[in-house]
Amino acid sequence: LPVVAIVGRPNVGKSALVNRIIGRREAVVEDTPGVTRDRVSYRAEWNGRHFTLVDTGGWEPDAKGIDASVAAQAEVAMDLADAVMFVVDANVGATSTDEHVVRLLRKVKKPVYLVANKVDDVRQEPNIADLWSLGLGEPRPVSALHGRGVADLLDLVLDKLPEVSAVAKREVGGPRRVAIVGRPNVGKSSLLNKAAGEERVVVNDIAGTTRDPVDEQVEIAGKVWRFVDTAGIRRRVHMQQGADFYASLRTSAALEKAEVGVVVIDVSEPISEQDVRIVDLVLQSGRALVLAFNKWDLLDDERRWFLEREIEQDLGHVSWAPRVNISAQTGRHLEKLVPALELALESWDTRIATGKFNAFLAELVAEHPHPLRGGKQPRVLFGTQASSRPPTFVLFTTGFLDPGYRRFIQRRLREIYGFEGSPIVVNMRVRE
Ligand code: GDP
Repeated sequence: LPVVAIVGRPNVGKSALVNRIIGRREAVVEDTPGVTRDRVSYRAEWNGRHFTLVDTGGWEPDAKGIDASVAAQAEVAMDLADAVMFVVDANVGATSTDEHVVRLLRKVKKPVYLVANKVDDVRQEPNIADLWSLGLGEPRPVSALHGRGVADLLDLVLDKLPEVSAVAKREVGGPRRVAIVGRPNVGKSSLLNKAAGEERVVVNDIAGTTRDPVDEQVEIAGKVWRFVDTAGIRRRVHMQQGADFYASLRTSAALEKAEVGVVVIDVSEPISEQDVRIVDLVLQSGRALVLAFNKWDLLDDERRWFLEREIEQDLGHVSWAPRVNISAQTGRHLEKLVPALELALESWDTRIATGKFNAFLAELVAEHPHPLRGGKQPRVLFGTQASSRPPTFVLFTTGFLDPGYRRFIQRRLREIYGFEGSPIVVNMRVRE
């Protein structure tokens, strides 16, 4: 989906605007500085068009950190969004931080909209005239809190937003998109460099395809792959506080543009909460997943014993993901990465014909009927695969299925069809 990013100083009302656009109270509005919102990207819809809204402001710095944090927001937005909404507080006017960010934003050839927030009343509108001086064109007055002006703003933004959904409209035969993600220093850039061989074969734009300048196309064993957001892999966030937040932000935005995420994990250190969080970001994104255990050259027998237990404990929920044990340094087993990617993408693309899927369901239900609940037994009437990427199934039932039973269906789907490397989604529609 096309990506719209929201950028701005703390307290200008970014999350209120997010809430208004997605029509939910999901993004927390907090006046306390230092709050980390844990979600950064939201599915949004306006007049039947779908897009991803990225709230870059989840980490609210103290006064000293404001410039760095807003610059980091701008950087992520410029690299990974298709359009940027730059929000200022109309009651405060343009600050020096705003001017600083505008200088950054003007370097990018993507539409940037100047949003003057907190214009709750038409009588305040004349106040925003000063904002012309920022050089971002006409300031658009809105009240995120009351909804004033937001519809006009969305009309404007969506009018110029490209239709291309990075995934659904993948160019036929075009290279598949891979995001290499993971904590800092796990070896992402080493892997990227090594994956293409010592002589990096950077393939130029293929006729008829579009490519973001922060992506890189690389030929491996005769096939071209597109690694998304390689700029983010190379560039480090030079911040003391908030670096984790911006790393997650960057990861989510990169995954949005990818079809498969390779999570790189450093085996020389214990698997950390942040590693698990990054795996979960891939799951949330619905992309295919490959686990790359890197720095295998540093592994001794003792560490290896612990590693296998950590994997069972912390990554047991993604035991279906193909796993490669590699060393980006020595090149060990790097040739296994491509088959793992291919396997994961094949699962992600899989479609099961409705007839076959219902034969599978009939057999499963006959062998293991849903347990009786209050004298009643919900029945599965019929099922179908609603979509692929990732495979998403809908079951029509006569009652709510226990979560345990739904997990059982998922497990059985994996037993029969594999789906290695792809999340699978099972939804229900209850018919009275
Ligand atoms: P990134 O931050 O994830 O991109 O990590 P880098 O690719 O910059 O690697 C971080 C450090 O780990 C560098 O000093 C690399 O040389 C080192 N490194 C990367 N891969 C390996 C590996 O497989 N084995 C060893 N021993 N070191 C590695």
